[in-house]
Amino acid sequence: MYIISACLVGVRCRYNGVITINEKLLKLVQAGKALAICPEQLAGLSTPRLPCEIIKNKNGILRVVNSQKEDLTKEFQLGAQKTLQIAQIVGANTAILKARSPSCGKGQIYSGNFNGELIAGDGFTTLLLQKNGIKVYTEEEF
Ligand code: SF4
Repeated sequence: MYIISACLVGVRCRYNGVITINEKLLKLVQAGKALAICPEQLAGLSTPRLPCEIIKNKNGILRVVNSQKEDLTKEFQLGAQKTLQIAQIVGANTAILKARSPSCGKGQIYSGNFNGELIAGDGFTTLLLQKNGIKVYTEEEF
């Protein structure tokens, strides 16, 4: 069983409310081989919402803030935890997640400066899934 970022298969959960559909991934969901999940919706965030990026505080601890500098770290942690719980319940060992997202990104995320700059890093959900033995790929790698 796969976990797939819900925004890749037609669910209107992206921060800007835009719907995107990756046909290959949608077929996995329709075949019952994948479950579509949005960590940020699971955490109670609304759509649309302000864009969020990961920043490091003075102690090197990762936080998530939106473009108004409001701290949403707890929500992102909650979304990651709920996603992990669901992945474990359904026995998923692989996740295909949206590239560059502060929740779902893998290998590369936005820098926290809200200027489009990219840096090395992983989203909160990706980090937690990987820590718990779930392989993560972006939709671009899959
Ligand atoms: Fe939800 Fe992840 Fe898609 Fe963001 S990238 S909208 S958290 S599924």
